[in-house]
Amino acid sequence: MASSHSFALDAIGVIESDYPDKFGIPRQPGLALDARATLVLAPPYNDPLSVRGLEAFSHLWLSFIFHQSPERWTPLVRPPRLGGNAKVGVFASRSTHRPNRLGLSLVELVDIDTRQGVRLVLRGCDLVSGTPVVDIKPYLPWAESRPEARAGFAPEAPTQLPVCFSAEAEATLAVRSDNESLRALIIQVLRQDPRPAYHDRKRKTGDARVYGVRLRDVDVRFCAHHHENATTFEVVAIV
Ligand code: SAM
Repeated sequence: MASSHSFALDAIGVIESDYPDKFGIPRQPGLALDARATLVLAPPYNDPLSVRGLEAFSHLWLSFIFHQSPERWTPLVRPPRLGGNAKVGVFASRSTHRPNRLGLSLVELVDIDTRQGVRLVLRGCDLVSGTPVVDIKPYLPWAESRPEARAGFAPEAPTQLPVCFSAEAEATLAVRSDNESLRALIIQVLRQDPRPAYHDRKRKTGDARVYGVRLRDVDVRFCAHHHENATTFEVVAIV
């Protein structure tokens, strides 16, 4: 819907991440620090001169487009954090359904590869593969880190649940060269309880379903065990 103040944005690059699907991605980057990603800059922005000096910063702000969200937006949204029913204003949320579909993530910069164009190697990225990035800015802790800030209905990280691995899943991990980082990523993703919010009723009575979440190059099959008001996730297979 073009208004008198419409601005065209150009993608400066595209994300290749450990997340082939939106399902399962934690709500914020800091919740899964072992999630790896590469930001591949696009011509003409992939000039190594454009990132000269960036290696001196450990963290970056990425501005991006929620390209898998619909263009329409509504003034009220239902944050999963509030159980999927309560509504708040879209600008009081980090919803993916918002005007201009603009997202903002703080990620760790691991390496810059300028052998062929520019590829930024990142950690702790909550973006699905294919996400277009429209800007990069170095993070300035002295100006932006505000631990005293009030955070409304999202005052701390979501509850984290225990995760265990079946013998079969352990055997699959054992032969992988990225064993440790894949194990850490699986734990970091599952402990957020990625099941759809409307499965809440099942959280109370036990849930026999086997879910699948694609991470890196595998399909992680998991189920939820419920015992005396506690839920534990078991990775039953990694295929
Ligand atoms: N840190 C960003 C922010 O605050 O703007 C993103 C927060 S948003 C709640 C994180 C979610 O965005 C992820 O759980 C994932 O499901 C979704 N997501 C990631 N990449 C996306 C994309 N390209 N299009 C639509 N949704 C995306």
